[in-house]
Amino acid sequence: MIIKEAQKPRKIKKLEVLLLRTPESLPQRDILNSMLNRELAGYEGELQLQYYLNFLTEKDYHLLHHIRLKDDNGYFQMDAILVTKFYILIMDSKYWTGHITIDNHFKQYIQLNKGVTQVYSDPVLQISLQEKRLKRWLKKMKYPTLPVKSLVVFTNRNVHLETQTPPNNYPFLNRVIKTPELIMKIDNFHHMYQMEILTNKELNKLTKTLCIKNVPEDPDYLSILDISPNIIIKGIRCEHCHMYAMKRYKGKWYCPHCKNRSSTAHHTTLQEYSFLYGNKITNKQLRNFLLIGSTSVAHKLLSSMDLPQTGPKQRTIYHLPIN
Ligand SMILES: [Zn+2]
Repeated sequence: MIIKEAQKPRKIKKLEVLLLRTPESLPQRDILNSMLNRELAGYEGELQLQYYLNFLTEKDYHLLHHIRLKDDNGYFQMDAILVTKFYILIMDSKYWTGHITIDNHFKQYIQLNKGVTQVYSDPVLQISLQEKRLKRWLKKMKYPTLPVKSLVVFTNRNVHLETQTPPNNYPFLNRVIKTPELIMKIDNFHHMYQMEILTNKELNKLTKTLCIKNVPEDPDYLSILDISPNIIIKGIRCEHCHMYAMKRYKGKWYCPHCKNRSSTAHHTTLQEYSFLYGNKITNKQLRNFLLIGSTSVAHKLLSSMDLPQTGPKQRTIYHLPIN
């Protein structure tokens, strides 16, 4: 049973908006593009993982995708967790391509892809740390001690894995798999762990707590990449011709370039605003971003969206939905 689906991470939406709303000449665009590609590959891997995990139909198998928890050392993120009454399984997706050689001696993975070599530290070491942190987190939250297992799952079918030493010398061999093996592996865990540790009620409570305590990553790219808010392109983008030129005319949005009309174009623009500056907006900030002069039109737009409000009447802060 899926409790939390793999969804397009906020990080990706933020990077996409930044690329839409910054000029081509911005030097940081190369970094933005490579960050976006890396995040998209990670997300694709999680979707692949989800595709295979969908074959688990057991009602008391609770699946949660993309969970990030806080502990005393900071945050730790898990691509997917399977919570059962018997054990917990953490899965880390690697959407790597090319040829991967596992170097057991130095605990590193050497990737050769399109003539480029890259070296990564052994992902099993990282997921083992996540195991420890999750166990400690469960203890702190006063849950019974459940076995916590983990797997590194290579989710891209265009990857060729091999070990440098004779395979049996690599101690983590049974913790690294490719996606087609996943369900069989989970069946094995099912046979290995038959002692019911959580009641149904505890299982439901635990997965609910994991969802509540999940803190999605929400980086402030403007400050991280030192991008001045002044260069952000303002205005309402026309869905048809992609010009940032829509004007308010007789209660609707109108594009002077392609004559396209819309009554809801400001919704997308305000969502983009929230990815750039956060979810709080005033009447003045809205006029400034949507490039409209009239306070009363701005007020009408904000009121029509039925947003939660705080602050005094003259300086009302509207709270945009968080996506
Ligand atoms: Zn247009």
